[in-house]
Amino acid sequence: MEDDGIAGSDLTRMEVLAFLGREGPASRATMARELDLSPATVSQVTRRLIRQGVVEPLYFAPSEGGRPGQLLGLVGDAGRAVGAKLAADHVVLVDVRLDGQVTESQAEPFDAMAPDAVEKLMALLGSFLQAGRAQLLGVGVCVPGVVDHPDVGDVNAEVLGWARMPLGTHLRKSLDVPVLVENDVKALAVAERLFGRGRSRPNFAVLTVGRGVGFASVCNGVLQRGSNGGAGEIAHVVVSPNGAQCACGQRGCLEAYVGAEGLAVAGRAAGVLKAAQGVERLKSLADSGDARAREIFARAAQRLAQALAPAIAALNPDALLVAGEGTDSWQHWDTSFRSSLARRLPNWMRDIPVELDEWDDTSWARGAAALVLAAPFDRNAVAGEQRLRVLARLHGRSVRRA
Ligand SMILES: [Zn+2]
Repeated sequence: MEDDGIAGSDLTRMEVLAFLGREGPASRATMARELDLSPATVSQVTRRLIRQGVVEPLYFAPSEGGRPGQLLGLVGDAGRAVGAKLAADHVVLVDVRLDGQVTESQAEPFDAMAPDAVEKLMALLGSFLQAGRAQLLGVGVCVPGVVDHPDVGDVNAEVLGWARMPLGTHLRKSLDVPVLVENDVKALAVAERLFGRGRSRPNFAVLTVGRGVGFASVCNGVLQRGSNGGAGEIAHVVVSPNGAQCACGQRGCLEAYVGAEGLAVAGRAAGVLKAAQGVERLKSLADSGDARAREIFARAAQRLAQALAPAIAALNPDALLVAGEGTDSWQHWDTSFRSSLARRLPNWMRDIPVELDEWDDTSWARGAAALVLAAPFDRNAVAGEQRLRVLARLHGRSVRRA
């Protein structure tokens, strides 16, 4: 491998890669301007990245001067990551390319409460990785719980029955690849920033609805984690003291009203659902025009907006992105949620876009993979030491290809 011949070239190369990862395809002129580099340096660095197979020339687009400028972009298959989403009773595994494309997915039964749960997970991941480690940058895992730090990966998750579970340590030892662990909603926010609607928005918030309720925010391009990974944990904020019983043991949590079980309880109390029926039945009733079922969704939406308004006002995001498996019934939340939110926000904040995400079974796991794929482009180095290992693998691969 030849030497760059320019001082600090690794750093410059990373800056260029990070820019393309964050912003998408860009011309050399744009990168020189935005990164405050000389056009000659950008040309030199991009020439080398192209030769290494990490960056490729794309189409020509009109530049500011009117002359067409060639855009450069990341090569989608220059790197890949495996993502795993853990739930109490199953795991979803995906293989995702650097450009966000899911090339493989698999769902497996999993009992998080079983004494050998972590061994089982290691075995599942191990066999999924059997398919090949070429271009593999690492493994990302997301959990419905609080994670101290992605680089460490100690998990507290009541849903899984885990307290201070050193998941990251176990997985790194057994898989021998970089492993990042994160709360599932935060991982989703990372994916939004990397491939989704957050790409062009340095400030946005993610709301997830479904079994539970989740919230995460990105401010100035940085995922907010708080002091111990608990930022955005709104599910068990008490919205009604001595109110409805929550699965966590408290009474009156937000989730007890807007989570799937909370909706089902309200449906049964209103006589809309029979004892064994759940939120799916409530949705199909609302779909077919049942006014009482629709009213239950509308009331939940009001509660949700009420709880969320102070967070939105505190963060002032460009948009609120709605995701989660519960989005299939969002049409029954939407009107009530938007009007309740608007009524509770300051005048000038009321037109905040509330945008629904496309959702499928792999979306959570894709978020987990995004933790790894975003690591090379993470200027704030949230991923810590694992980020360096991911970077080394990205460059190792490009060297072999050169
Ligand atoms: Zn609770």
